[in-house]
Amino acid sequence: MSPPSAEAQLRFLANIQRLLDEGIFTATYKFALLMALADLAVEKGDDSGAPLPLATEEIAEKFVAYYWRQGQPYVRLGSEVRSRVLRQNTGRQAKVISLVSDARGIYDAGSPRELAPDRRAALIRDVARTVETMPLWKLQVMGGEVVPFLYENLGRGHAIVLREGVAFCLRRFHALIRGLAQGAWVRFVRNLRGNRELLGETADLSAFLFGTERAVLSAHVPILQEIQSGLCFYCRKDLRAPEVDHFVPWSRYPVDLGHNFVLACRTCNGQKRDFLAAVPHLERWLRRNEDHRHTLEEQFEQHALAHSLGGSLQIARWAYGQVEQQRGSVWVAAERFEALGAAWRKVLAA
Ligand SMILES: [Zn+2]
Repeated sequence: MSPPSAEAQLRFLANIQRLLDEGIFTATYKFALLMALADLAVEKGDDSGAPLPLATEEIAEKFVAYYWRQGQPYVRLGSEVRSRVLRQNTGRQAKVISLVSDARGIYDAGSPRELAPDRRAALIRDVARTVETMPLWKLQVMGGEVVPFLYENLGRGHAIVLREGVAFCLRRFHALIRGLAQGAWVRFVRNLRGNRELLGETADLSAFLFGTERAVLSAHVPILQEIQSGLCFYCRKDLRAPEVDHFVPWSRYPVDLGHNFVLACRTCNGQKRDFLAAVPHLERWLRRNEDHRHTLEEQFEQHALAHSLGGSLQIARWAYGQVEQQRGSVWVAAERFEALGAAWRKVLAA
C-alpha cells in the first residue's frame, strides 16, 4: 500500500469540486455526508493509502452531531423577535432534523450525550437508515453520471469502503474539504425560500450552523482547575483568569472532545493562537490524560461532555502529521516558535 501520487491527489480534488458543482442538492445531507467522510478519515484512517471501511451508523453519529446544533430554533432579533427551526430541504423538512429535534425535545437533552444510551442508539439507527436511503448512493452522481471515486456505489447495505487513497486525501485536504462543504451548506440554507425571510442578510448563519470556538466551554474550568493545581498548562504560572484552550486548535479540527482541553492563562492562550504546541507540551498533555484518565472520564460523563481519549489521540496524531508534512512551526512559549520536525512521532506513537 502506498499513498496516492500527486496526480491522483489532484484528480481527487477535481472530483470533489465537480461533485459540489454538478451534484443536485435538494437537501443538506450531501454536505453533511462529505463532512462526515472527511472527519471519519481523520478519526479512523491513517496515511498509508489503505482503504477504510465505514459503517453507516458511524456516519449517522456524525450526522446527529451536526444536525443537533442546527435543529435548534434560529432566533432573529429585531423590532420583533422571531424564531424557527431552519429548513434544510427544498421539499418537506429534512427527516434527520425531525428525528434529532424529536429526540432533543422529548428528552429535553442539551447534547446527544445526555440521551439515555438506548434512546441514543435508536436515534443513530434511524438516522443511519435515512443516510442509506437518501444521500449515500446519490453523493457521487454528477451531471447525471455516477462517478464512484470515493466508494463503490452499491446502492444497498449498511457499510461502505473508502477506496485506496481516499482516506489519505480526505486527511490531507481536510480543512479545504470541510471549508468547501460548509460554505456550500450555508449558501444552500440561506437560499431556501422558506428561510429567506427569517434570515435576511444576517452574517452569523455560519456560526449558528457550525458553532464557534467560543462555544460554551466553561464546564471544563472546574474539571481542569484541580488537575492542573490552579496553574497555566503552558507557563505553569498561577491562573487568575483561566481560559479554556483547545490543545489541538479548533481552527484545525473543530470538534470539542474533553481530553483536548487545557486551562491556560490569557497570555499563553493569546500567543499560541492557532498553532500546535511544541513537543514538550505534547508530552505533558499525554501524561496528564494518562495520569488523570479516570478522574477526567468520570467528570466528562458527569457533565455529559463528549470525550474519547482514543479519538483525541488520533486527531492529535493527524494534526502533528499535517504540520510536519507542511514543514510548519509549533508554538514553544511567548513569541517563540520552532520547526516541528519528526520528534513528535516518538511521543505520539500509535
Ligand atoms: Zn501561561
